[in-house]
Amino acid sequence: MTLRKPDAGPPKKPQPIRKAWKFCPRCGSPAKKPGKHPFVCATCEFTHFFGPVSAVGAIATDPDGQVLLLVRAKDPGKGLYGLPGGFIDPGETAEQALHREVLEEVQLEVTSHRYLASFPNEYNYHGFILPVTDMFFVVEVVSFDAIHAADGEIADWHFCNPRKRELNSMAFLSNRRALEVFLKQRNTSRGHH
Ligand SMILES: [Zn+2]
Repeated sequence: MTLRKPDAGPPKKPQPIRKAWKFCPRCGSPAKKPGKHPFVCATCEFTHFFGPVSAVGAIATDPDGQVLLLVRAKDPGKGLYGLPGGFIDPGETAEQALHREVLEEVQLEVTSHRYLASFPNEYNYHGFILPVTDMFFVVEVVSFDAIHAADGEIADWHFCNPRKRELNSMAFLSNRRALEVFLKQRNTSRGHH
């Protein structure tokens, strides 16, 4: 086995995060089975599971039914569209994270939410893939008057009826799939009225 030098930079091809775990963070010994799930220390039996972390995403529409898309200012997905949202903090409910993230990212106050769907996602951090479970909610906000993008996080925002062009420009497939579910539901319910 050849180890990468610490200054070797990210691997060329994205790898699962378990591949980055070579040594025990508790005692420094090598893994019992390097690169395998879960990580188990060969010496002290310290164990780490590489299960997905949880995240939330919000679909908010203006009074004309146009969907709020954010232009991401940071990687992963810099310059591409994303839905407002983010990771759930330890001890937080998904609903609390939803309200907090929407407020933090665009200064909008969520007044109600409806669970829509969940999709698996992957976050590429410097060449290592972190698995994520994205949970999506359709939200209502007090008003869009106060909308303001968080500095350094969000480059811009855009209200639109997402079509192929927008869907193809989503940073994450999970966000795209959630939007497709939302749009399909909306078309179906419109068809019944
Ligand atoms: Zn150990």
